Amino acid sequence: MDIIQRLTNLFSDFPTVGPRTAQRFVYYLMKQPKERIEEITNTILELKSKIKFCSFCLNPHENENSLCLICANYNRNKNLLCIVEKEQDLISIEKTGKYNGLYFILNLAGSLTRNQEINTLKLEGLKQRIQNPEKFGIKDAKFLEMIIATNPTPEGINSSVLVERILKDIKQDFKITHLARGIPVGGELEYADEETLESAFEGRK
Ligand SMILES: [Zn+2]
Repeated sequence: MDIIQRLTNLFSDFPTVGPRTAQRFVYYLMKQPKERIEEITNTILELKSKIKFCSFCLNPHENENSLCLICANYNRNKNLLCIVEKEQDLISIEKTGKYNGLYFILNLAGSLTRNQEINTLKLEGLKQRIQNPEKFGIKDAKFLEMIIATNPTPEGINSSVLVERILKDIKQDFKITHLARGIPVGGELEYADEETLESAFEGRK
């Protein structure tokens, strides 16, 4: 296979990128000076070598510490745990400034049926963090509320069911809440405006 086709195939694997856009990327890169190409490839390599995933919430970060800045912050409320599907959802919730607890990022594999094993492992990771937060770097946590903040998409609803099953399995005294409606069905937290997300959070039940 020639280089153009090979690179096009690589880009086609990126989220939301179809073959046409992938091809456009390739032609764009072809016309860039060598320094620019080096900058791009080096930054990608750095992404892989410098980014770590938080030992507790799995948020990517560049700290020395094994915890991300949210988990390492003493002022966060360690009675609350908000379970989100992906990094972007955490960022959207942080932007509202209305939530001061901890997070856990599920990052379940795209197809729930095909990657059942991986997902079982990830959900097991969530369970262990709730049962023994100290083992994952969080001291003095006492979770009183689990907020399931998955998206109202088919995948998000599926994740929410799986999470709830795991949570009910844990014999600890916390309540389980969901974000209030307001995020349009099929919509994602990532794209919700701050006000909508704020009221979805405040009206959780
Ligand atoms: Zn963290």
